[in-house]
Amino acid sequence: MHYHKILVIGGGLAGLRAAIEATPKADTAIISQVHPVRSHSGAAQGGVNAPLANNPKGRDDTWEKHAYDTIKGSDFLADQDTVEFMTSEAGPCIYEIEHWGCPFSRTEEGKIAQRPFGGAGYPRTCFAADKTGLYMLHTLWERSVKLNIPLYDDRVLVDVVIEGDQCRGVICLNMQTGALEPFMAEAVIFASGGSGQIYARSTNALISTGSAQAAAYRRGVPLKDMEFIQFHPTSLFGTNILMTEGARGEGGYLINSNGDRFMSKYAPNVMELGPRDIVSRSIQTEINEGRGIEDQYVYLDLRHLGREKILERLPGIRDLAMNFVGVDPIEKPVPIQPGQHYTMGGIDTDVDGATKFKGLYAAGECGCVSVHGANRLGGNSLLDTVVFGKRSGAVAAQYVSSKVDEKQGEAAVMKCLKDTRERIDALLARKGSENHADIRNEMRETMFLNVGIFREKTAMETGLAKIRELKERYRDISVQNKGRQYNVDLVRAIELEGMLDVAEAIVVGAVKREESRGAHSRLDFKERDDENFLKHTIAVFTSEGPEITYSPVKITKHKPVARRY
Ligand SMILES: Cc1cc2nc3c(=O)[nH]c(=O)nc-3n(C[C@H](O)[C@H](O)[C@H](O)COP(=O)(O)OP(=O)(O)OC[C@H]3O[C@@H](n4cnc5c(N)ncnc54)[C@H](O)[C@@H]3O)c2cc1C
Repeated sequence: MHYHKILVIGGGLAGLRAAIEATPKADTAIISQVHPVRSHSGAAQGGVNAPLANNPKGRDDTWEKHAYDTIKGSDFLADQDTVEFMTSEAGPCIYEIEHWGCPFSRTEEGKIAQRPFGGAGYPRTCFAADKTGLYMLHTLWERSVKLNIPLYDDRVLVDVVIEGDQCRGVICLNMQTGALEPFMAEAVIFASGGSGQIYARSTNALISTGSAQAAAYRRGVPLKDMEFIQFHPTSLFGTNILMTEGARGEGGYLINSNGDRFMSKYAPNVMELGPRDIVSRSIQTEINEGRGIEDQYVYLDLRHLGREKILERLPGIRDLAMNFVGVDPIEKPVPIQPGQHYTMGGIDTDVDGATKFKGLYAAGECGCVSVHGANRLGGNSLLDTVVFGKRSGAVAAQYVSSKVDEKQGEAAVMKCLKDTRERIDALLARKGSENHADIRNEMRETMFLNVGIFREKTAMETGLAKIRELKERYRDISVQNKGRQYNVDLVRAIELEGMLDVAEAIVVGAVKREESRGAHSRLDFKERDDENFLKHTIAVFTSEGPEITYSPVKITKHKPVARRY
């Protein structure tokens, strides 16, 4: 059996950063479904926030102002202590990555350049052209190679071993051999990314299924605030490939079929740089009221920025628009529509990334330390991955070094291995008539249509009934490929079971939250209701569906006020 003191699940920015921090203090290994540099973090375009005050228009910026923008952006659902920790650590964390070699774009003075982003009072988004995530990911990957951190890639986590109140390890499917592999550890850090693929029209990679998060959920790890799903305003019409917010940060316009910059109606002071929930709703309203083009999209217009700026600051965006919709943004406006983009909720953790189980941590998009609340600001997720990746790595290393007993979990790991083997053998033996790819597609459409940008009780309840019907139909699927090596058919089938559980947690939380807050926008409860809903939703798995309770929001300095832009 493999044994490491600490196992990190996921090789994206959060996982790499956690492993880099933990490694010098404790034997740490990374487990990842794909090679780390293929993680979704590498698709991040626009940038990462830190109040460095390098931009001439941002000289007065401070971490306190960054904290307030984040809290206001979250519609006051974020825990203010965790936000303060994140924004006060932002500068040091970004300089650290710069010193490790990340090639950030530069100001004329040679400092890290910063661009304006939505919902931010100052230009504080540090960037490397429009490929920020890619450069950060490669920087951390190289660092992990330098530190000789062992990597188990092509491994799909299929179960988590919990014994009493303690996490003992994980069970993975080795894609190369088809074998199930037990891993024992003193601590496990989940850094398995978001679950955007539960939705149709997602900007996320195919690997962002939330399957690892779902495995933890099934073993009793609570999920927090799952109903808060971010829709990004500008994804390419047709494929939903992201057009970064940096395009608006650099001065891009949004225009409707009449040629109007319609944001003047919805957020007159900040126009296209409103926070994402507001801009997405504005675009959808234009489309719903007949001012979209072909009733389906609006335009992102960059032409006035000029050729030079587009080539220097947004080269990747130009390539994507030319390759996927045949439009060169230098000459023509780009057709865009909102798409699912980010999961604000996730595994319930405290500010250290610790869960309710000893030795089990989570960081990055799979977790919910609660810095994004009901709506994440652009540029704050990359920051979340490095700040809380680092912190969870440090805390886990501290925990394992203070632990008195070691390697106590062997029997529990072997029992879990046996159960998992039986479960997967049974799945492979099923001769049902349902096709799991069809069920996945129906789930994705249901989530987008019934629990999407605008929500309402009847539609959500219809959606919930549909998800439950799909869970029933899942029992009758069959896996066509019975082979061992790289059996993607099997992996997709395993993932789907967890995705349906997470989808159910999203809908149930959304139905019960009878207010509009951030990205959760209800047509039947249009106002924010602090008296009844200034609280986090906690979902605990049961075989009958999620059991929902609530936990308080931590308020330090900022009393909730009306959110206007
Ligand atoms: C197109 C796009 C652009 C974005 N742009 C920005 C931006 O400009 N600024 C910003 O702040 N945020 C941006 N975001 C959000 C941000 O990129 C992500 O939230 C963040 O990178 C997530 O990092 P992570 O380390 O948590 O997870 P990921 O980078 O998604 O990595 C997840 C890791 O977990 C592994 N994994 C998953 N499931 C399993 C399993 N079952 N078993 C084993 N391993 C598993 C994967 O192999 C992968 O290595 C963007 C997101 C998208 C989709």
